[in-house]
Amino acid sequence: MHKLLKAPLAFNGFGRCLLTEKCLSAIKIISRGLVCTQHRDDFGKDEVYDVIISGGGMVGSAMACAIGMDPNLVSKKILLLEAGNKKVIDKVPETYSTRVSSISPGSATLLSGIGAWEHITKMRCKPYKKMQVWDACSDALITFDKENLQEEMAYIVENDIVVAALTKQLDSLSDNVQVKYRSKVVKYMWPMPHLAVDSMPWVRVTLANGETLHTKLLIGADGLNSMVREELGIPTVKWNYDQSAVVAVLHLAEPTENNVAWQRFLPTGPIAMLPLSDTDSSLVWSTSHGLAEELLELDEESFVDAINSAFWSNENQSELIETAGSLFRGVLSAIMPSVGSPRQLPPSVAGIGPKTRVMFPLGVGHASEYIRHRVALIGDAAHRVHPLAGQGVNLGFGDVACLTQLLSQAAFNGKDLGAIQHLLAYETERQRHNLPMMAAVDLMKRLYSTNAAPVVLLRTFGLQATNMLPLLKEQIMAFASKGFIKYLLHL
Ligand SMILES: Cc1cc2nc3c(=O)[nH]c(=O)nc-3n(C[C@H](O)[C@H](O)[C@H](O)COP(=O)(O)OP(=O)(O)OC[C@H]3O[C@@H](n4cnc5c(N)ncnc54)[C@H](O)[C@@H]3O)c2cc1C
Repeated sequence: MHKLLKAPLAFNGFGRCLLTEKCLSAIKIISRGLVCTQHRDDFGKDEVYDVIISGGGMVGSAMACAIGMDPNLVSKKILLLEAGNKKVIDKVPETYSTRVSSISPGSATLLSGIGAWEHITKMRCKPYKKMQVWDACSDALITFDKENLQEEMAYIVENDIVVAALTKQLDSLSDNVQVKYRSKVVKYMWPMPHLAVDSMPWVRVTLANGETLHTKLLIGADGLNSMVREELGIPTVKWNYDQSAVVAVLHLAEPTENNVAWQRFLPTGPIAMLPLSDTDSSLVWSTSHGLAEELLELDEESFVDAINSAFWSNENQSELIETAGSLFRGVLSAIMPSVGSPRQLPPSVAGIGPKTRVMFPLGVGHASEYIRHRVALIGDAAHRVHPLAGQGVNLGFGDVACLTQLLSQAAFNGKDLGAIQHLLAYETERQRHNLPMMAAVDLMKRLYSTNAAPVVLLRTFGLQATNMLPLLKEQIMAFASKGFIKYLLHL
């Protein structure tokens, strides 16, 4: 039963539709051997925590802050384990770091609720109000903006700044949350689902220094190669894309207001320029592995020329597509003369930050189960997406908001935090949100990875039509940024 059930759930999660939710939950509880029992708290000599979070990246640190600040969880014993060093920023460096994330307004609200957003804005973060996405094969474009540019669309923040802000907040929560840096977990032992008398009731965690700890709930936030997920043997659908992302800090040719995020879909992959300041932007250029390697080898001047040409060149356009596209645009403007956004031109790049060019292979991955007995996965440990929609860490923050709300409720009702019922609710909620988003991002990646004329025509018409439909654009933006607003109301 167990294997049969898992296969259809692997990537789509829609196998649930075949069964009622109650029936499915009951089967899952039995099939995963998730039976709760009462145990004593002082297992052996080792310390027993209520919650251990393994992995203190952006998502794990946010999780630690969120549960550490929750009034229903204050009496709980919480520990965050991070293999790396403590990330502290006393003075914000003058130069920008290469790794940045586009943080949605929903994520900013979460970070604000857990006290980290104030630290971030005091350090450095760049809001943007508009995003222009266009096709190199046809010049069809779509512009997303917030009404009258009053609201921010998203914020570009360096990953190091997000982690440093969360670290600062964790320092102020030291009565509620213990943090061990340079503490790599080397082994997990899982409690037996059906317990014999005196067998281990909790998850056992062994650190590289030999220390062992026990926890009633382990939260795996240990990134895309998650050891928690691997050791549990959770089936994961994953594949590598035929692309790598080249990232770099860009110096603009002249200062501008720089409040637009630009993305152009080339047949080899999307190139994006995200604002950092009036004079600097961040590059995320997803392209074939071969071209990515060549880009890393180029001298600075040739690299800058390649970037400018990727944003400006018309070499991928054909007359047929151009004519069909402008005819379609003409028809749309005749029907809806007042809508649609005018084209803006991206700024030119004049240089790059020293030693900021780095390359990352890209892939997609989704754990078919986010939970097991006394374990939950969050962030990249559960799901990994292509960066073209800037959703990776935002999905992770959505996991944090959802799991915190469910754990808080469980604590309020006096329930065992590792109990399967609320963990299952977490898995169902998040897979319902994450899977459609992941499927949409993957589809976009595929749709734009070709310059075959029928596909280019189809996406040209689609992009132009969507650009003329403000309500549809609003829906797309809401889907991307407010997917977890209901949990935030709780924080
Ligand atoms: C080029 C690129 C651009 C991107 N742009 C965006 C964007 O604009 N917007 C967006 O939302 N997302 C973006 N992403 C995705 C985003 O970077 C990830 O989703 C995010 O970093 C995942 O965070 P995490 O905390 O889940 O995992 P990680 O950042 O991988 O953190 C995992 C942590 O766990 C620790 N760890 C691992 N194993 C152990 C162990 N055994 N014991 C103890 N600790 C351990 C690690 O040291 C690490 O600190 C981008 C990704 C790429 C590659």
